Amino acid sequence: LPVSVVIERLCATIEDYPSQGIVFKDLTPVFADGAALRQVVDSLLEPFAGKFDAVAGVEARGFLLAAAAAYATGTGVITVRKAGKLPRAVYSESYALEYGEATLELHQGDVPVGTRVLILDDVLATGGTLSAAAALLERTGAVVAGIGVVLEIGALPGRSALAGREVHSLLGV
Ligand code: IMP
Repeated sequence: LPVSVVIERLCATIEDYPSQGIVFKDLTPVFADGAALRQVVDSLLEPFAGKFDAVAGVEARGFLLAAAAAYATGTGVITVRKAGKLPRAVYSESYALEYGEATLELHQGDVPVGTRVLILDDVLATGGTLSAAAALLERTGAVVAGIGVVLEIGALPGRSALAGREVHSLLGV
């Protein structure tokens, strides 16, 4: 089956979570299915083959994808974390979420300057999270090779927030 169909079948939809009016897409059943997880990770990597030296994941679900993708390609993994989790000097980016506000952080100096980084996350909604992740990587001297997400919520302006970047999603809803 095409990866989009696999995701569509396994993805759960929860109305009014985490707050009224939000339709939440839950991909944990996709991650829990061995064949689906492998197909998703392989499909995320496909457009970027040979174009990156490391994979960054956005806490927390992006970590799952990034670790699997890094292992599959023999590259390293970079953790873009929520505020307050990293023990050394960080770069920090705050942004507006679909619901609320958030800050992401990245250790300074973990990535050699010029490293080409593929950024992965589960869902692209407004694009705030992935814009912040890309900004952090650029502040530390990395080159953003591209962005891959499992699910893209099409009614939101995620693509325009990431204009000028190579973005691939496996399914648009
Ligand atoms: P954005 O910053 O608005 O693009 O939201 C994307 C971030 O919020 C990602 O890190 C997602 O994990 C999370 N997110 C937003 N909407 C959903 C959803 O419907 N399901 C799961 N995660 C979501």
